[in-house]
Amino acid sequence: MSRASDAGIAVRDLSKGYGEGPVLDGLSFDLPSGETLSVIGPSGCGKSTLLYLLAGLDKPDRGTVSTGEVSRRDKGRISFILQDYGLFPWKTVQENLSLPLELQGVAPSTRRKAVADMLDELGLGGLGMRYPAQLSGGQRQRVAIGRALITDPDILLMDEPFKGLDEALSRRIIKRIRERQTENGQTILFTSHNPGELRLFADKTVRLDPTSH
Ligand code: ADP
Ligand code: MG
Repeated sequence: MSRASDAGIAVRDLSKGYGEGPVLDGLSFDLPSGETLSVIGPSGCGKSTLLYLLAGLDKPDRGTVSTGEVSRRDKGRISFILQDYGLFPWKTVQENLSLPLELQGVAPSTRRKAVADMLDELGLGGLGMRYPAQLSGGQRQRVAIGRALITDPDILLMDEPFKGLDEALSRRIIKRIRERQTENGQTILFTSHNPGELRLFADKTVRLDPTSH
């Protein structure tokens, strides 16, 4: 399946602060459609801030972000894995995975199959009826990854997606994300404070430095 549109990301002169000087100060970069970029830097340097701006959940003080043209479908074209997972605690693993498809109006039988496949793919078989509170951090992280992947988004934003996962599991999940990306041409941007992950995954890297405030 090829993308019906350009899902590249362009960031120009982006600045954002929360009242005590800028967190991001004049950041610019391009990520062509279908490529993977890692944003690396120490805690507090603005990685999560950048993802919120890219997802359109917050507004820049200055500059622009562009996430390509409108795709073959509007809904679900950007998936965002939050740093703290953002799972719904009152929903089971299955229900969390199914929700994005439900919001897209996908039929129940198709949803059930997609959820079963995703549980398999992420090594979560047998955990579908559990609630997030009954999972380990690494299992929660995998549910969050599954919920982001299940809609086959044009753009995948992942905030420290591999923290809490051991290296073997990280490698396995990266391999699956890569296979999907080869098939579907997704544009992927993820943050990390672990340079080791970059060698596994990213086409290019943007390094954020802590600002001086
Ligand atoms: P990172 O993800 O790289 O650890 P963040 O983007 O979460 O960094 O935060 C960057 C800086 O902005 C930190 O100093 C943080 O305390 C501050 N910050 C983030 N979000 C807010 C907010 N909503 N209000 C005030 N300060 C914030
Ligand atoms: Mg963060």
